[in-house]
Amino acid sequence: MIELKGIPSSNGLVIGKALLYLEDTLPEIPRYKIEKTQINEEWERFLSATAGITNKIRQKLAKPAIKSSKERGDILKARLLMFEDIEFHENIENALKNKLQNIESVVWEISQNLVDKLSLLPSAEFRERAADISDMARELLNKLLSVQHFSLASLTEAVIVAARDIAPSQALAMDKNFVKAIVTDAGSSTSHTTIIARSLGIPAVVGTTSGSTQIKTGDILIVDGDKGLVFINPDKKTLSLYKKLIKENDVHLKTAKSLIGQDTATTDGKRFTLKVNMETPSELEKAIDIGAEGVGLYRSEFIFLTEGRAASEENQYHAYSEMLKAAKGLPVTIRTLDAGGDKIIPSLFQGVDEKNPILGWRSIRFSLSRPDIFMTQLRAILRASVHGTVRILFPLISGIEEMEQALGFLEEAKSGCDAKNQPYSDSILTGAMIEVPSAALVADSLIKKSDFFSIGTNDLVQYTLGVDRGNEKVNYLAQPEHPAILRLIKMTIDAAHKEGKPVSVCGETAGDARFAPLLIGLGLDEFSMNAASLYEVKRIIRENSFAECQKLAEKALCCASAKEVALLLNLGINQRS
Ligand code: PEP
Ligand code: MG
Repeated sequence: MIELKGIPSSNGLVIGKALLYLEDTLPEIPRYKIEKTQINEEWERFLSATAGITNKIRQKLAKPAIKSSKERGDILKARLLMFEDIEFHENIENALKNKLQNIESVVWEISQNLVDKLSLLPSAEFRERAADISDMARELLNKLLSVQHFSLASLTEAVIVAARDIAPSQALAMDKNFVKAIVTDAGSSTSHTTIIARSLGIPAVVGTTSGSTQIKTGDILIVDGDKGLVFINPDKKTLSLYKKLIKENDVHLKTAKSLIGQDTATTDGKRFTLKVNMETPSELEKAIDIGAEGVGLYRSEFIFLTEGRAASEENQYHAYSEMLKAAKGLPVTIRTLDAGGDKIIPSLFQGVDEKNPILGWRSIRFSLSRPDIFMTQLRAILRASVHGTVRILFPLISGIEEMEQALGFLEEAKSGCDAKNQPYSDSILTGAMIEVPSAALVADSLIKKSDFFSIGTNDLVQYTLGVDRGNEKVNYLAQPEHPAILRLIKMTIDAAHKEGKPVSVCGETAGDARFAPLLIGLGLDEFSMNAASLYEVKRIIRENSFAECQKLAEKALCCASAKEVALLLNLGINQRS
């Protein structure tokens, strides 16, 4: 058995047969000189190949399955723009005239130059852009050379697809009935392919670095999209453990479904609010149907990441309005732009070269130093606020000054709306994310400026334990059960409750049901998680008594190590050691 670790990018457990997919290679490219008289003919071939591809994209866009998925629709539209990009067409036409080479070699050269330039840039976002261009060139060259390649759309049996990378064009073609999970060497949690897998509900582990060199077609794989683990040809023990886990998941799902409509309260009557983290409104209706009481975290940077640039006020206004309308009056917590660090928006970070981007120009720091972008976002949120119940959440607040400055900008944005007679809700609550230890340590003063707190455990763990959340080498140290984290959560909750204000957890810990008794006992008011975890967390809440959970939390707070807490919470053998 080989165990691979990657980035858990789309939840779910799957056991199945591997298909090693290495179809992202380029065809052999012919190179020959052409006469001036042949320029038109070659240009026509280019236009006809492009038209063939764009027509297909348009047909896909018209399909109901795509129409109902905003993420997939957006990615297709972005591809359409790439193929129809005027500058790209002009570059090809000019090179064709100047070089007098066949169209295939011109397309190859122009795209390769672009890819080479982008690949040299330090950020992952530029590399993703380079991958998109390679993908476009490959599709064009295949079309020009009439090469038929195997496509993930043509699968006829259920497989787990293992690949170096999966191009967005192929990811868009995936059918959930045949692609049971994906495992890739490359990728990040914000890459296009990951976004698509999540939107299709296909479990994914990306960033395994060398998975495709170790997995062979026909191997039996276990993909644990919750923890980012892949087992190649698992031993009997691991196989039976996962079979049991999958069965448990199924049983839980069935019993959990019966919880719809039941109160989210402990056996002794303490009520909790369960919300979902949503990047687009497409799945919100379903989440509300199964009991979500609103959106606890709307990561607004996804709008910027999909566009690759600062989203306009109109685009943001539409995105927020859509989410608010889909929420049907339930609260939507819009987190302001959390850019930078590992979420680089190409056009906003051009030329920025930071030694420690995670400790650098990111999140609220970025917004406060770019009033143009911040004010545009705040205006869009205010204008959209008339369509529902908005709460604004500021990310990575490290102390009271940043909160005051952010609120100052919000007031200015309100004045701007007043001056233009643009209506907005007068009951917008504003909160601070507790993601760095300093915020938790001054929570007593920070709460005076906040209507609520939302604890981002993903970053709180990263900054408290000094462990890069994207680095698989130190991932074992990313322990939300560490007593230091528990104490910071407790401090945050106590400070807010003293002022009669609520606290939510919107990091991944909120959706990990094993932590629910502890969070209940610590006095948390609200859990915000991915929709798939709702049932399970609700079940745990309903099966426990608040009094017992409080005792558990007291014990946990006295533990000296993460290991002790893990034992107390019965975190199980898969917990990082
Ligand atoms: C967090 O840090 O816990 C959080 C919810 O924000 P993100 O995962 O987007 O950094
Ligand atoms: Mg965060």
